[in-house]
Amino acid sequence: MYDVVALGELLIDFTPAGQSEQGNCLFACNPGGAPANVLTCLARLGKRTGFLGKVGDDQFGRFLRQVLRAETIATEGLVLSAEAQTTLAFVHLQPDGERSFSFYRSPGADTMLKPDELKAALFNARIFHFGSLSLTNEPARSATMAALQSAKSRGLLVSYDPNLRPLLWPDLTEAKTQMLGVMDQADVVKISRDELEFLTGSGHLEQSSERLFQQYGLSMLLVTLGEDGCYFRLGRLGGHVPGFRVRAVDATGAGDAFLGGMLYQILQRRKAIDQWTLEEMEASVRFANAIGALVTTRQGAIPAMPTLGEVVQLLATG
Ligand code: ADP
Repeated sequence: MYDVVALGELLIDFTPAGQSEQGNCLFACNPGGAPANVLTCLARLGKRTGFLGKVGDDQFGRFLRQVLRAETIATEGLVLSAEAQTTLAFVHLQPDGERSFSFYRSPGADTMLKPDELKAALFNARIFHFGSLSLTNEPARSATMAALQSAKSRGLLVSYDPNLRPLLWPDLTEAKTQMLGVMDQADVVKISRDELEFLTGSGHLEQSSERLFQQYGLSMLLVTLGEDGCYFRLGRLGGHVPGFRVRAVDATGAGDAFLGGMLYQILQRRKAIDQWTLEEMEASVRFANAIGALVTTRQGAIPAMPTLGEVVQLLATG
């Protein structure tokens, strides 16, 4: 039995890595994809995890499969496609230091996962996690819906991270419709403040999180606030847990690490989340904040995920 299975994008992030002797841009080849980051976090904390998704049957796809295996994430549910190539994303640094992105995903293998390719054995798990990038295109959208149905019918807790990547949608109205279209299936939802504002039309933390929570019948809502920590809702409880002060160098993967930490707490407590006390919730968010903070102190997402020992140390000293 798995603790957590996740479905979604698995891709290569090419990040700027200086210049060649000829003055041309160099790019470093990093494994990417939010659901795999969440699983890596959990696997490093000792949990049994499995991945559902599709990459190309090419050098990049086989590299990504190897990365998951090295993290002890089960890859039986990872399909290698002969018809589409592994999705690639490039990060570009503008002269003013801002980052821009270009995606090579037309179609990328991650969007080509079909409902009949879902490995049934992976739904023998406690938690199913997914995001919104598998909702942008068919057939992956239908595969996501089918996976949600399997997870629900087998009684798994459903975790959802509606990430907003405007470039991957035809327009923002479609993005909003699809991102909200699955919200009522989720038990645990993690969003950033910008995403909360995009989905509800208001950045007012208390009011708009309360509205989202009630409208979609959520059990737990987590609004991550970068260095300021997290604002949460759990039943009638709501509150803010401040972040840890750390020397942040790269925030990539902090949100995924935070969510991995929260799912770890849900697994450890073995208690329905609607039965949690305020103290249990605050302690769990503090644990997740510590993991998010640790990830910002190192480059990258997957390589930056901490061990349980490192988290315990920050909790004790931070
Ligand atoms: P996302 O990556 O989804 O935008 P955030 O940037 O809000 O998410 O980060 C997720 C969590 O990681 C935060 O709630 C916080 O606990 C932690 N975190 C992020 N950035 C920092 C930082 N600079 N210092 C300390 N903790 C941070």
